[in-house]
Amino acid sequence: MASIYIETYGCQMNEADSQYIADRAASAGYSVAGTPEEANVVILNTCTVRERAERSAYGRMGHYKLLKASDPDVKLVVTGCLAEQDRDIMRSKQPHIDAVFGTSELVQLGDTITAWRGDFADTEYTEERALIETIGGAHTVTDVFSHLRGYVTVQRGCSYYCTFCIVPHVRGRFDHRPMADILAEVEARIAEGAREITLVGQTVNAYKDPATDYDFGDLLAAVAKLNGLERLAFITPHPKDFTEKIFSNMAALPQLNPRLHLPLQSASDPILRRMNRKYTMQVYQEKLALARRYLSGWAITTDMIVAFPGETEADFQASLDYIDQQQFAQAFMFVYSPRRGTPASNWEQIPAQEGSARLKRLADVQNRACRNFHDRKLGSTVRALITGPSRKDARKLATKTLDNVTVVAPMPDGYSEALYAAEPWLDIAIGTAHVWGCTGTILRRAARYADAGNAVKGAVVDLLAV
Ligand code: SF4
Repeated sequence: MASIYIETYGCQMNEADSQYIADRAASAGYSVAGTPEEANVVILNTCTVRERAERSAYGRMGHYKLLKASDPDVKLVVTGCLAEQDRDIMRSKQPHIDAVFGTSELVQLGDTITAWRGDFADTEYTEERALIETIGGAHTVTDVFSHLRGYVTVQRGCSYYCTFCIVPHVRGRFDHRPMADILAEVEARIAEGAREITLVGQTVNAYKDPATDYDFGDLLAAVAKLNGLERLAFITPHPKDFTEKIFSNMAALPQLNPRLHLPLQSASDPILRRMNRKYTMQVYQEKLALARRYLSGWAITTDMIVAFPGETEADFQASLDYIDQQQFAQAFMFVYSPRRGTPASNWEQIPAQEGSARLKRLADVQNRACRNFHDRKLGSTVRALITGPSRKDARKLATKTLDNVTVVAPMPDGYSEALYAAEPWLDIAIGTAHVWGCTGTILRRAARYADAGNAVKGAVVDLLAV
């Protein structure tokens, strides 16, 4: 049977696009390959939000040149933001790539892989087999647990043009999906076994249903009413688009995961202005105060960029102080990285060494806050959803709590992928806390979030936690 391998870089928007490609591939009769070497079609879904992501995508293209040399029949496809930006360069300088599709050409990508399907040997393919793959395997882009999380795109593009960001240049302006389509896709993901649905958009809380006046709060409420929905999350919101009405809608939905990402980027007004973030520190603090009032006890996380062009030591110190004061549960921190075609890439840059030094100072402060947040879980039992075997130790399972903390625990005796994919909610007694998350011991396993769960026999105590 023909098979496809999809390698995804970047944000949840790319994850959602990869799910779409996997769906189209499954409908055309492809199975999902475990490695690129086993696949007939290899898709590289790229990101260009940072220079490092761009470099690694070109590195992977180089690797796939060897694959093509050893098997000229394999079809190589590049998609995602880097493909949108460098389409012509790739077509001329990467001749081993069979096709390049930008972010707005996913439908054509699906049509192309469907058309290629006939080129591959088809001795075992039947309609029935395709159906099984659609239901059980389309979203297992990489493993048997991937389908537990469903990513549903609610909006494409962004119209805000932050001066550091490539997204509006490669994905275009806001294009909101009709709410009815979103609800239908969520229902399909639930039917396929998704335990957690994440609504994805570059500025997800700016969502407006094109046919009605419904806003993001209404969308959340409509999704939460769907039969079978267990947990709901969303990414990435913009502080400017949160209203009191949206927070109040959120507070009324017990299905929403209790975590809120409120990207700040800098705590200095002159830098926020240069970034074109469309809020001041005062506005950000008002939104944060509203969030804390309506969503009491939620984990609040943020994003920070250091060494943005023009950032003085005083601007940076303002960010450092604010991060220390607010004790965010987590912060994604980056040194500013110039992206071709964005205004800030033409401005005078801060030396890389100074950028790294600022990042380290900020990380030292935030790491203490992360550790404090994780320390508060010590001695408790948390319910968490499996992500898969731990990347660092294959004898352990990695999971995520509802507030998005990584918890790792030894696999109990009798562990099997099939059993744990069917009963993926784990109750874990937290034994140790770290900056990156927690470790613990698995006590119970449940098929659904609200189930009481069955005691796990042969639970293995995490020795590091004792
Ligand atoms: S809000 Fe700014 S950072 Fe976010 S996607 Fe839009 S332009 Fe990029």
